Amino acid sequence: MIDSLLIANRGEIARRIIRTARRLGIRTIAVHSDVDAGMPFVREADEAVCIGTAAAADSYLRQDRLLDAARATGAQAIHPGYGFLSENAEFAEAVVAAGLVWVGAPPASIRAMGLKDAAKERMIAAGVPVTPGYLGADQSPDRLRAEADSIGYPVLIKAVAGGGGKGMRKVDAAADFDAMLESCKREAAASFGDDRVLIEKYILSPRHIEVQVFGDTMGNVVHLFERDCSLQRRHQKVIEEAPAPGMDPETRAAICDAAVRAAKAVDYVGAGTIEFIADGSEGLRADRIWFMEMNTRLQVEHPVTEAITGQDLVEWQLRVASGEPLPLRQEDLAIDGWAMEARLYAENPASGFLPSTGPLDRLRFPAGVRIDSGVEEGGEVTPFYDPMIAKLIVHGDTRAAAAAKLAEAARQVQVWPVRTNAGFLARAAADGDFVAGRIDTGFIERHADRLIPGTAPSEAVLQAAAAAIVPARSGDPWQDLVGFRANAPAVRRVEVEVDGTPYLVERTVAPAATIDGDVLYLDGEAWSFGPPRADHAGGTGEGDGAIMSPMPGRVIAVLVKEGQAVARGERLLVLEAMKMEQALLAPFDGVVGALKVAAGEQVPEGTLLARIEVGEG
Ligand code: ADP
Repeated sequence: MIDSLLIANRGEIARRIIRTARRLGIRTIAVHSDVDAGMPFVREADEAVCIGTAAAADSYLRQDRLLDAARATGAQAIHPGYGFLSENAEFAEAVVAAGLVWVGAPPASIRAMGLKDAAKERMIAAGVPVTPGYLGADQSPDRLRAEADSIGYPVLIKAVAGGGGKGMRKVDAAADFDAMLESCKREAAASFGDDRVLIEKYILSPRHIEVQVFGDTMGNVVHLFERDCSLQRRHQKVIEEAPAPGMDPETRAAICDAAVRAAKAVDYVGAGTIEFIADGSEGLRADRIWFMEMNTRLQVEHPVTEAITGQDLVEWQLRVASGEPLPLRQEDLAIDGWAMEARLYAENPASGFLPSTGPLDRLRFPAGVRIDSGVEEGGEVTPFYDPMIAKLIVHGDTRAAAAAKLAEAARQVQVWPVRTNAGFLARAAADGDFVAGRIDTGFIERHADRLIPGTAPSEAVLQAAAAAIVPARSGDPWQDLVGFRANAPAVRRVEVEVDGTPYLVERTVAPAATIDGDVLYLDGEAWSFGPPRADHAGGTGEGDGAIMSPMPGRVIAVLVKEGQAVARGERLLVLEAMKMEQALLAPFDGVVGALKVAAGEQVPEGTLLARIEVGEG
């Protein structure tokens, strides 16, 4: 077994790897950027080396500095985690050339799976079912159009070098094909320097099913069953689970065997994931599940597999990289119960999932469930890296039990002042269709109305705030009665301000909320509250209509004009921040009173972009 390990990553995955390495008696070396110096993973490693400044290109992606750090600390091996350099074949080769152990996939396997067309060709040769389509040997538009016609619409045009959801176009009808092809090729050339495309049948009711595989240096490959990652937002996974709902033993055997064949076809060693797309319109059927791609690394969602198999996949990685055989044989592996994972992000669902950065003055997680997190209370979410705060991982005897646990865990999350998607996760996990297993990759978009909370506080939040301001009974009934009317039942009214907006609340029953100073936590959401400020008394109850930039960014579109009437929730402007597009919405029905910016402008945080005024009739 290796005796020392440098972790070329940060945050929760660095901590996760340190935890297992420590248990196995392996010395750990963290590397970090200057802004990460105070992070828990830096402190928890036996040693730490600063390798550059905040931008990943100047630190976590600097191959030379990572190798220097390994040399300087006498590290014997490098674990790349996920993201960053984990699927970089050149780096893997450089690590090995430096005489170090690479705790990752062999460079040749990484390369074999790197391009979508070549990967699909190898899978076809290995007898793995792939999505019906055309691999694009002839790239002439006429040929591509003819292939799309014979596949049948809708089709998906995919850049062969694509990744991260980029370079994909869904085409619904033949008439749109030429325009879509052109725009896909343009994006592919700009993003990947390779404009070749392939054509795939567009799968209806698509479900994302993936299989965890593991290989060792003796040529053994096993699978650790499937995960379902269909709950996605913009092709990003939100909730993952294992096993997959509705999977019968025959279908499982078929896709898990296909996954093992796929891994063997590229002489795979270490942890890998074979991603499939399934047509779930009539349940899961072996003849309607097709290979999509292979991820040649450990996945973010590996804990759900750990939870149902009782295995530590990082330990498996370290053993395999040390030259040991796989810890278990296929027949020793079994599924126990059901596991789910939710990704807790620093983002605000109510404002179009805008990333939310800043200090973590409060960060409380539920007890009794597995939490994999890279940050701690008193720390910070910086704008430089992935905004994931934590993964909530639960396990139950049944799927229903796991979903209930996950919903409860998300409800108990308390974070302030950074905004999170905890309330959204709680709603998703408790959603009737989700609990019934009626999921596909369009689930979140289709049910956005009931999953995404509004910017305004719910009645429950207002009740809890009112109860916190005016405790239930003061002894003097008259003191509690504001707005008392003769000849009418006494109504206990309380004026409260929630997130800066005043409300008049008719007290009924307050739900159990956590109150900490002037912040209220309820069902995963957090609200500032208090008695109304003097300058707000008599306000509209809807905020002042100022549309401010929530973070530094670039205005990429202005969708309204001055004087235009807008409805609450209507898109006003689109801001690009942290590489994501975010729409800013009208807070209430009104008129665009002032528009302060134009498309293309760079704006600092807190800039007044527009003002919505209460309309005239
Ligand atoms: P990338 O490499 O950019 O992540 P993938 O090929 O993995 O692209 O596809 C990303 C997502 O797009 C999948 O998770 C799935 O939701 C959707 N998708 C991919 N191929 C198809 C298809 N043929 N039909 C329907 N949806 C698809």
